[in-house]
Amino acid sequence: MSHTDYDVAIIGAGIHGCSTAYHLAKRGARVVVIEADYPGRHASGVNAGGVRTLGRPIQEMPLTLASSALWHELSQTFGRDLGFYTGGQIKVAESEADIATLQKRVALLASHGYHHEVLIDSATTREILPAVSPHVTGAVWVESDGFAVPYRSVTAFRREAQKLGATFIENWRVSSMAQQGSKWVVGVPQGTVGAEYMVMTAGAWSGRLAHDLGETIPVEPGGLMLMVTQRLPHFVDPVVGATSRGLSFKQYDNGTVVIGGELHCEVDIDAAHAELDFSRLANSARIVTDLFPFLKNVSLNRAWSGVEGFTPDKLPVIGYSTTLPKLVYACGFSASGFQLGPASGRAVSELVLDGASKVPIEGLSPARFGQDTWRTKAA
Ligand SMILES: Cc1cc2nc3c(=O)[nH]c(=O)nc-3n(C[C@H](O)[C@H](O)[C@H](O)COP(=O)(O)OP(=O)(O)OC[C@H]3O[C@@H](n4cnc5c(N)ncnc54)[C@H](O)[C@@H]3O)c2cc1C
Repeated sequence: MSHTDYDVAIIGAGIHGCSTAYHLAKRGARVVVIEADYPGRHASGVNAGGVRTLGRPIQEMPLTLASSALWHELSQTFGRDLGFYTGGQIKVAESEADIATLQKRVALLASHGYHHEVLIDSATTREILPAVSPHVTGAVWVESDGFAVPYRSVTAFRREAQKLGATFIENWRVSSMAQQGSKWVVGVPQGTVGAEYMVMTAGAWSGRLAHDLGETIPVEPGGLMLMVTQRLPHFVDPVVGATSRGLSFKQYDNGTVVIGGELHCEVDIDAAHAELDFSRLANSARIVTDLFPFLKNVSLNRAWSGVEGFTPDKLPVIGYSTTLPKLVYACGFSASGFQLGPASGRAVSELVLDGASKVPIEGLSPARFGQDTWRTKAA
C-alpha cells in the first residue's frame, strides 16, 4: 500500500465512522475509513435499532434532538429506505412509585426547556397500547421516536459517503498510530496511510487504542443481548420500555418482536465476541409477559449479542483529545449510540473542519475526565 495522504483517517466503520465520513465528504474533505472487519459488523449492525430521545441524560439532549431531526429526513436525503418507522417510544409505569419517577423526569426536562417527553394517563396509555396489562397506570411518551433497521442504516451512510468520494478499506486492523511532522500515520499490517486528522470511532475497542496512544479514554467493552420471537399478528406500534425494570421491545412489520433493553453479558474483546446468558434472557422474557400476558406462549426464534463500549458515566466521549493534536474521539456510546449516529457524525465533521460543533456537546468532551483538550490548550 502506498503512503496516500488524506485529510482525515477514520478508524472504525460503525454508524459513527460511516456518518462522520459522510458528513466530512459532503463538505469536500478527502476521507479514508479503515475497518478491521466489514462496515456495520459490530454494534452498529446488530443493535436493536431503537431511535430514542426518550430517557436521555440532559448532557446528550441537544445531540439526540438534532439526531432525531436528521432521522426524520434521512430516507429522503439519501433516496433509500433505512427502515425508519416512527411509531413513538413509550415508557410505562407499573406502580405509583414509577408514576412519581416519571413526573420527576418530565419536570426536570421542563426545567431545562425540553417538552418532548409527555406524561400520559392510564386511558391514553391504553389507547396507544391496547394489549398492555391492567396493572400499568400511565406512561411517558415521545411520539416522534421510533426505530430503524440497523444494518440498512449503516450501509446507507457508507454508500452515500462512498458516492461523495470517501474511501473505505475493509479487513484492515489498525495496529499503530503516530504523529509524523504535522500528520498522522496510521499503520496496518498491509502498509500505512497518512492523514492530517484522525477520528477514533472504533466502538468498544476505542479505549484500548487510546491507551496505545498514551491517553486514558475510559471506554470499556461490554456485551449486550437481544432476542426475537416468532411472527405474531400486529399488536404494538411504539417501542415499549418499563420505568423500573430493564426492558425495550418493538414489533417489526414482519410480525417478529425484538426484545432487549440493556441485557448485559460477558465479552471477549480479543475475539470480538459477547457470550449469550440465557438466564438473563429468561428474566427479560418474563418482564415482557408481565406487561403483555398474551405473549406467554410465544416462542423465541433466535438470540444474539453484540460488543459495545461503555464509559463510567454512561455518556459518550465526543471531542478533541486531551493530549494529542488533531485527534477527535467519538466513542463510548454505552448502549444508545445508534440513534446519535447521524448528528454525532455531523458534530465530529464540524469539530474537524470548523474547530467546534454547532450542536453543544461540551458535556461529552474527553476533557470531563480531567484535562483540557488540545484545542483549548492551543487557543
Ligand atoms: C445488542 C445491542 C443493542 C443496542 N440497541 C441500541 C438501540 O436500540 N438504540 C441505540 O441507539 N443504540 C443501541 N445500541 C448501541 C449502539 O449499537 C452503539 O452505541 C453504536 O452502534 C456504536 O457505534 P460505533 O460506530 O461507535 O461502534 P461499532 O459499531 O462497534 O463500530 C466500531 C468499528 O470499529 C472497528 N474497529 C475496532 N478496532 C479497530 C482497529 N484497530 N482498526 C480498524 N477498525 C477497528 C470495529 O471492527 C467496528 O466495526 C445497542 C448495542 C448493542 C450491542
